[in-house]
Amino acid sequence: MSSFTSNGQNTRTAPSLPPGMDAAFSAARPQAALLLRLVWEERRISRADLARRTGLSRSTVSDAVRDLLRSGLVVETGTGEAKGGRKPIMLEFQDDACGILGVDIGATHVAVALSNMRGEVRQWLVEPFPVREDAAGARALALRLCRTCQQSWGAAGRQLLGVGVGLPSPVDPKHPFEVSEVVMPAWGGRNGLEELRDALELPLLVDNDANLGALAEHWWGAGRGIDDFAYIKVATGIGLGHILGGEIYRGATGVAGEIGHLAIDPHGRPCVCGLKGCLVMYAGSAALVEQAQARMERFPGSSLAAGSLDMVAIADAAQQGDELALQVVREAAEYLGITVAGLLNLNNPRLVVLGGGITRVGKGLMEPLQATVRRRTIMSSISAAEIVASPLGSRAVAMGASTLMLQAAFHNPALFRQWPREES
Ligand SMILES: [Zn+2]
Repeated sequence: MSSFTSNGQNTRTAPSLPPGMDAAFSAARPQAALLLRLVWEERRISRADLARRTGLSRSTVSDAVRDLLRSGLVVETGTGEAKGGRKPIMLEFQDDACGILGVDIGATHVAVALSNMRGEVRQWLVEPFPVREDAAGARALALRLCRTCQQSWGAAGRQLLGVGVGLPSPVDPKHPFEVSEVVMPAWGGRNGLEELRDALELPLLVDNDANLGALAEHWWGAGRGIDDFAYIKVATGIGLGHILGGEIYRGATGVAGEIGHLAIDPHGRPCVCGLKGCLVMYAGSAALVEQAQARMERFPGSSLAAGSLDMVAIADAAQQGDELALQVVREAAEYLGITVAGLLNLNNPRLVVLGGGITRVGKGLMEPLQATVRRRTIMSSISAAEIVASPLGSRAVAMGASTLMLQAAFHNPALFRQWPREES
């Protein structure tokens, strides 16, 4: 996570606001943003320590803290240790002053996490859905799940900050409501999320699912305190989110990290994208199911012979030592290992976090993957890199979606509805 003293000026796009709301948001004082973030990081801190940590004058801190208190995001609570003189009044960040909706629109499901401002998921709703085939249905389901969360959170009179949405497609920050026709042909080039924004009357941000998984790991998971790492989501598609210098790296047009279509074998299996031998054809969930089916006859005792065959079933069977499942997973692990090795050689991240259903396998996946990586990397780039399974699991993308909104509000506290409006 970038430190609180950074100025926060980067290429992040502004949240898309419901009509009529734009005018209400004036730019907040930069000092207030800095102090708000610092109180959040420290949870409890005195005005004197805020001044000391930021280098701002005591009177500037006092003025800005008045806004923080008026917003209700920060309250005065008790006294701290006296460092000569009287005991200071402590300021405390209120994690539940705002809820945030994080929507994960996957290839085959829609999930919504309602989180507080400390990344604690207060409500979690998920339903399977053929998202790629039915854009309008996916949006309607997302709206229904969001409304359920909105009602339960709002019932206690609490505010929602906004909604973040993750999509299994590249998202160009300059054109957040467009969607790749190659990846999601039935969506007609538009994600239509303005409808969700307007129906909920909340600011909305959109990003690629793997980018959001990376952001969630950076704030709440395996990537805390690490400013250069990668998150790889292995599901129907395979995507990579890269945190470089503490920020999501999106590339020139938001397509960075589309590793699912990296060629593992230029003469290999034909891919939906029109190319041959793409990684997703060897390690994506459809490939695993296909490989398990093709080998089923040779493993008559396999637990996969009964029940429905999907990535989770294969991963769970492999985790329990099923030979067929293990063989399929080991093969996928090797292809993933080739890709991770290339990534390490190319970008030298300190950490690679693997997410998606396949990570349920545990050692049966990680060991062959790490062995492949060791065989295929230049020593200096691999020596320090750790490869781990995501501790956030299936909630990573939704949590990252709400984190994207939280991050935006920390850069511009006027996004908080409680934020005191400047009188003009
Ligand atoms: Zn492809």
